[in-house]
Amino acid sequence: MEQVSTRLAVLSPSATLAMSQKSSELKAQGVDVISLSLGEPDFNTPDNIKEAAKKAIDDNFSFYTPVSGYMSLRNAICKKLKEENGLDYKPEQIICANGAKQAVCNAILALISKGDEVIIPTPYWVSYSEMVKLAEGTNVFVPAPASQDFKITPAQLEAAITDKTRAIILCSPSNPTGAVYSEAEIKGLADVLAKHPRVIVIADEIYEHIVYSGKNTSIAKFIKDQTVIINGVSKCYAMTGWRLGWLAAPLWIAKAVNKLQGQYTSNPSSIAQKAAEAAYLGPQDSVEAMRVQFQKRRDLIIELAKGVPGFETRVPDGAFYIFPVVESLFGKKSSKGDVVNNADDLAMYLLNVAHVACVSGAAFGDPKCIRMSYATSEDQIKEAFKRIKAAVEDLK
Ligand code: PMP
Ligand code: GLU
Repeated sequence: MEQVSTRLAVLSPSATLAMSQKSSELKAQGVDVISLSLGEPDFNTPDNIKEAAKKAIDDNFSFYTPVSGYMSLRNAICKKLKEENGLDYKPEQIICANGAKQAVCNAILALISKGDEVIIPTPYWVSYSEMVKLAEGTNVFVPAPASQDFKITPAQLEAAITDKTRAIILCSPSNPTGAVYSEAEIKGLADVLAKHPRVIVIADEIYEHIVYSGKNTSIAKFIKDQTVIINGVSKCYAMTGWRLGWLAAPLWIAKAVNKLQGQYTSNPSSIAQKAAEAAYLGPQDSVEAMRVQFQKRRDLIIELAKGVPGFETRVPDGAFYIFPVVESLFGKKSSKGDVVNNADDLAMYLLNVAHVACVSGAAFGDPKCIRMSYATSEDQIKEAFKRIKAAVEDLK
């Protein structure tokens, strides 16, 4: 009998990966699809990082490493945390994993027991809620609508905390909205959490360097003993396929994660680790060069989105997504008879008619919106919006 576990049966597939798969399939059939679906930089990994990986192969870094990663990599991460974030961590507090995705899941599985509540400001990245389900925890969604600049307030946080609350997952800069909490806003949330020492904040800072005004502030600056920082090389160093992320946590959490990972996946790839070490210790100019490109693309996409009827788009301060509110298009019909009743329909309509792939906001907990990634070239963005505008103007 084909029967998967109940744990898996309640899990939704990743909508971001599903849409990317769908657009790849269409491309393979010869359709000229422009993908604004996946949050993946289109840049190549910087040369100094590639060289370090080639050298690691030649130098036979081919054996199991410590479960949490080479000491040299964890030292490099501690150096980064000290120099860039002003935070003191010991290498024992760092656990490297197969991407930040595994690091988030590690933190959740290490902390959450059946029935524990996890606060998730909504919209949220698609995988958080599903990872909480895997841990048999309970998602508590706290609305952060466009009218609040996609951020929650300290009062909302306070009101959401109960005796069962064990964690909050905070993503700044945010996927899918691009919102960035200011230092004062982070402090406001930290002040609430400090009153509830049992509540741990899982602070996903994977887009840390992709910010367009000022600098990202880690909540660990205020409540380090209650914070698990999540980060990795995928986004800021254009290394999505290398699969190297990490967490920095209080020692008791790091030890728990080490035990979990030791029974589960062991160390992440030794070669990816050596590459990541070079990323952190080498020149940082490519990070800045990519950030500048993303900012140009953000300005371009915002301008183009303004020209699409029914798109209400706030200007994001970070990451590489726009998250327009598109609900005024719901209930409309195209000249060919396509009906758009919700964000899922709109994403499918844009894929089928405009051949542009985006992701419905429903998967991120906000069914009034759609997510578009601008981690692609300016030419592609321009062409995508030419098509989107024509398709949307045909909805009456
Ligand atoms: N967190 C967020 C908010 C993300 O957008 C992503 C992108 N997939 C991840 C974590 C996971 O990144 P990684 O490629 O390092 O697993
Ligand atoms: N984080 C990226 C995204 O949101 C990559 C896909 C994924 O891992 O979900 O598109």
